[in-house]
Amino acid sequence: MSASPSRIAAIQAANYYRVPATLPYKDAHSASLYGSAVFNEKVMQARLPKAVYKSLKKTIETGSPLEAGTADVVALALKDWALERGATHYAHIFTPLTGITAEKHDSFLEPDGKGGAIAEFSGKQLIQGEPDASSFPSGGIRSTFEARGYTAWDVTSPCYVSESPNGTTLCIPTAFVSWTGEVLDLKTPVLRSMKALDEQARRILKLFGHHNIAMVTATAGPEQEYFLIDRNFYLARPDLVSAGRTLFGAKPPKGQEFEDQYFGVIPERVQAFMHESEAELYRLGIPVKTRHNEVAPSQYEIAPIYENANIAADHQQQIMITLKKVARQYGMECLLHEKPFAGVNGSGKHLNWSLGNATQGNLLEPGHTPHENMQFLVFCAAVIRAVHKHAGLLRACVASASNDHRLGANEAPPAIISIFLGDQLTDVFEQLKKGAAKSSKKSGTMHLGVDTLPVLPKDAGDRNRTSPFAFTGNKFEYRAVASNQSIAALLTALNTIMSESLDYIATKLEKAPKGKFNAAVAAVLTEIAKEHMAVVFNGNGYSEEWHNEAAKRGLPNLKTSPDCLPVLTAKETIAAYEKYGVLSKRELEARRDIAYEQYVKAVNVEANLVLELAITKIYPAAVRYQTELAKNVAAVKAAGGEPLTCMLEWVTEQIAALAAACKKLSEAREHHASGLVAEAAHSCEEVLPAMLEVRKAVDALEGIVADDLWPLPTYEEMLFISK
Ligand code: ADP
Ligand code: MG
Repeated sequence: MSASPSRIAAIQAANYYRVPATLPYKDAHSASLYGSAVFNEKVMQARLPKAVYKSLKKTIETGSPLEAGTADVVALALKDWALERGATHYAHIFTPLTGITAEKHDSFLEPDGKGGAIAEFSGKQLIQGEPDASSFPSGGIRSTFEARGYTAWDVTSPCYVSESPNGTTLCIPTAFVSWTGEVLDLKTPVLRSMKALDEQARRILKLFGHHNIAMVTATAGPEQEYFLIDRNFYLARPDLVSAGRTLFGAKPPKGQEFEDQYFGVIPERVQAFMHESEAELYRLGIPVKTRHNEVAPSQYEIAPIYENANIAADHQQQIMITLKKVARQYGMECLLHEKPFAGVNGSGKHLNWSLGNATQGNLLEPGHTPHENMQFLVFCAAVIRAVHKHAGLLRACVASASNDHRLGANEAPPAIISIFLGDQLTDVFEQLKKGAAKSSKKSGTMHLGVDTLPVLPKDAGDRNRTSPFAFTGNKFEYRAVASNQSIAALLTALNTIMSESLDYIATKLEKAPKGKFNAAVAAVLTEIAKEHMAVVFNGNGYSEEWHNEAAKRGLPNLKTSPDCLPVLTAKETIAAYEKYGVLSKRELEARRDIAYEQYVKAVNVEANLVLELAITKIYPAAVRYQTELAKNVAAVKAAGGEPLTCMLEWVTEQIAALAAACKKLSEAREHHASGLVAEAAHSCEEVLPAMLEVRKAVDALEGIVADDLWPLPTYEEMLFISK
């Protein structure tokens, strides 16, 4: 091995790693773990007085307000249950606008006045917390001196106990608002949008003659992609530590071209990690189901079974936290950034979304003959209309500096938001455009030509992985969510724009004269098909032709965050969010400004890192090698030989390029535009390209400089030795 000493140490440490066996899996079935750390329905039923349990269940299942007195009784039961599980503290858990989970812990213990202490926990402490809000982003909603913030118990998301080696904490999911009542978190708008969706969906169901209608909820199933690399390499890469992605790194000799990684055999250490993280998630009652190798080397995926969207959003945050925590116990770092490595696939989060209830089931279930299923067609048409009207918003909800690296590259959906409907449904909506739909294309079966193999039922449509918003049987899959992002903002948007569309349709249908309901449904479906089918595209979303065609159809193509963030406060967005009481104009403006701020800060940190690494690590390595070559040239000359100067010239050239690029980046970084919008545009148009120039010179040097002088772990080491 000729790598630099720090790299050699990292390689050796990775090589000597032995996987610990920590789970008593032979003795304890995972079913016995499931939900064991959760104050779930079963526990509530067992521990709460019947009347209180019933009242709480009613609130959860119908969205009715919590009855007075309930909280005190629940608090007592919660405290006893948590203390039995070793809890010393309770914490209100919330998601401020950073998108990262926040928690403030308070001890149960209170002095008893006699020199001892007793564990106390009241209904008031359960319902309301008062964390200082001044250090969370507010987008100008309040000044620093107006510091008061409140957390409020979300009854619908279960409390749980989180474990550390030295104790446990009772965790209470909460909403977070400012003293003036303005929303400062991601959960509150999700809950509000779910309420709106319930109201509007019920109007439609009522029109279709249903009498017994349970609360309609949005459902969500997020598939999480991530990378795992040995922590020794991670710690030797300041760019990964501080920015979450590699800012330099030459393409390795082998990448993902053999397509041998996807669904490949999971390496032992990774599988042990998966078992452990899943066991932890089971304990938390998070229904993780699927795991597999992803496309890029050292990339994996975990997916839970779908749940009520609000709970899925909470659980998704816990999944990210758990993956990161457990990876460290296995000597690895879990990278959740969208694009940790250039040249191989990045990570995303596919969000499967639908709506339904306990009485009518999944409202996006087409059945075998969708052309006859008017109720389904109405809900599906509502999605088509909503996505067409608010395509830019759906792009803006997932905007971040890191996601910009992925969207629009040929591995992730394009920044153009279109819908894949599949052959069967597209055909039905094309028929509707012209009038009534009379047929549905058949799905059929598949014979494999071997009698011992089963005859397989075939789906009516193929899949399409290039589409950002794909209908996949009985749900839509939105594929542009960032891998390190909360799904809450997107869920809020989907529920809100869907509510608006359902409202639009219900308002039309409610006016239909008696006996003319079917004709009214047909008319509204035809109208929506005519006006909004432009958003449907079943072809290759990566192709050049689609970009041209999409432009012709008037679909927005918002490539970068600065391009799309203004949509967060566009007229149509504000109208929809205000109409359904989801967020006010002021709250939307705050969110937009925070997104701008985060973008500028993210790019700035990366620019700082690029300069620091280039100047303090790369440049010294390059000039040492240059000196070595220069000495060699002089020595060969002195010995009367004909020295080879081409390497020296090459290195010298790249060092000059590096110095020039650093100077340019440094100037771009020092420049300050006035105002957030101009600042973000400057980051996007000047700073990011200048960073790429530095990277070009650094990556060229990585291919020239002697390996024993190269300071940073290489792509080959991080991606292929980590297992
Ligand atoms: P894929 O092949 O894309 O992984 P799956 O059928 O395995 O597709 O489903 C992926 C995700 O979609 C899972 O999390 C699953 O629970 C979720 N899902 C399935 N049905 C629904 C639904 N009705 N609403 C929301 N998510 C759903
Ligand atoms: Mg999928």
